[in-house]
Amino acid sequence: MKVLIVGGVAGGASAATRLRRLSETVEIVMFEKGPYISYANCGLPYFIGGTIKEEEKLIVTKPDLLENRFGIDVRINSEVVSIQPAKKTVTVKNHQTGKTYEESYDRLILSPGAEPKRPPLPGIDSEGIFSLRTVPDTLIIDRYISEKKPNRAVVVGAGFIGIEMAENLKDRGLDVTIVEFAPQAIAPLDLEMAAIVHEHLRQKGVNLLFGTGVPSFEKTIENESVRIPPDTRPHLIKNYDFRQIVPYINMQMLLGHHLGLKGKVEELLAAGDKKALQLKISVDEMINRIWRDHLLDCHAIYQFFPCQSDADDLLIYNPKKPNEILETFHFPRQKKEPFLCLSDYVHERSSGIVDYVGMFVVTTGKRVIQTATQFKQNGEFLNSHLLLSIALEGAEGFAELVHQRMRDQWQIGDASDLTMKDRLHGKYIGQRFSFGYPACPDLADQEKLFRLLKPQQIDVSLTEGHMMHPEGSVSAIVFAHSKARYFTV
Ligand SMILES: Cc1cc2nc3c(=O)[nH]c(=O)nc-3n(C[C@H](O)[C@H](O)[C@H](O)COP(=O)(O)OP(=O)(O)OC[C@H]3O[C@@H](n4cnc5c(N)ncnc54)[C@H](O)[C@@H]3O)c2cc1C
Repeated sequence: MKVLIVGGVAGGASAATRLRRLSETVEIVMFEKGPYISYANCGLPYFIGGTIKEEEKLIVTKPDLLENRFGIDVRINSEVVSIQPAKKTVTVKNHQTGKTYEESYDRLILSPGAEPKRPPLPGIDSEGIFSLRTVPDTLIIDRYISEKKPNRAVVVGAGFIGIEMAENLKDRGLDVTIVEFAPQAIAPLDLEMAAIVHEHLRQKGVNLLFGTGVPSFEKTIENESVRIPPDTRPHLIKNYDFRQIVPYINMQMLLGHHLGLKGKVEELLAAGDKKALQLKISVDEMINRIWRDHLLDCHAIYQFFPCQSDADDLLIYNPKKPNEILETFHFPRQKKEPFLCLSDYVHERSSGIVDYVGMFVVTTGKRVIQTATQFKQNGEFLNSHLLLSIALEGAEGFAELVHQRMRDQWQIGDASDLTMKDRLHGKYIGQRFSFGYPACPDLADQEKLFRLLKPQQIDVSLTEGHMMHPEGSVSAIVFAHSKARYFTV
């Protein structure tokens, strides 16, 4: 008697060993299309969570044990692709060699298990969406978490496996939300019993969304076609004419924030407010003096870099050697909807599409401190304060100007009717982000930006606390994505 078994995990392997116990003489051949037989499905989520540390521990039995101890002919990577009942044969494809052959039988046992259900929802085939059924599925999820370091996971379905996955993803350090169509977890339980499960999950910090279906899967930010900059070489601007920067200076910030004028500067000036007018005259006189006596040294350096994202990381590539990663920035992701992260504004590494970001550093120069001190020594206290304030806001204005120039070169130039007020409110395509602000709070990232741009060429350096010296300097990383905007994390 020759018995063939299709499927070599739970049902198949136990049928094979049971059969051997019933008969020592029967010839048993077991086909398994995957690389593993007889593994512990129940352990798969716990391997992902780290409770089970070694892959080996998932495997209950290996082919050689079944062969040597039970005399079972185990053929892994072998898929039964058709059955010929009239002839009592099956056709088998060996996935390792690619060869196909026939095998005869007296009796045939089918134990092919089931496939995970993947409802045909829009976006279900996107990157980062997994089902868990086999050891290979487990290893794929495990590797994804190790490599991409996602911050959060959504488990669709609060059945036994969904809850085990939530528990293990939580153990792995992710923020987990379970989405379940039914009003409770684990449908066979009465609601009173399920409530205990809910409470336990909530205590563990798992977010629960009951009575909620998943209609589709979408990325928070859709990729756009890549904006290719004209070049990826450094652009150095030395001794820029200060008069060109003046229109970009935010007078609300200068007169209001730095010089203490209360109210809306624009409205006060339009209404002829005496104090506002006097202050504005003093500012204008100082601006003229800065230009006439060349009191500020306005320099800038900017460059576009090829880049890609990898989960929450932004990978900056060497423009001359496209595969070489020069720096990796890690950005925080929002913990609540819409779950924004700066890295989302460029194409992912897995897409194979190379994207671009810009970076710049601008400064109004080092000499200003000396000059301001000199003014003070001469008794020109207001002028000293005016000069320092204009140097600070001038650097901001210069950043605005350089950013505009970069947008022009990136072919996302401003609309012809965009006013300076709109510009100062960021109403253009793309956005610039300075380290230390909520979306990129790590000031130490300045080090990376400095390694990339080398702004020492324009006399800007970093203090030990990663602040720029001179103070009248602004640095930023620039994205061209039309949805790029400021957000808090
Ligand atoms: C994550 C997870 C956790 C689980 N936890 C538990 C638990 O704690 N307790 C519990 O009782 N149950 C648990 N289960 C369920 C249990 O694993 C299944 O009920 C059991 O594995 C079913 O056994 P089976 O032999 O029918 O199918 P499977 O174990 O799926 O085996 C079928 C095998 O057949 C192979 N096959 C299919 N078609 C062919 C073909 N044409 N040729 C060759 N080979 C083929 C497949 O590759 C597969 O390996 C869990 C399941 C999962 C996914």
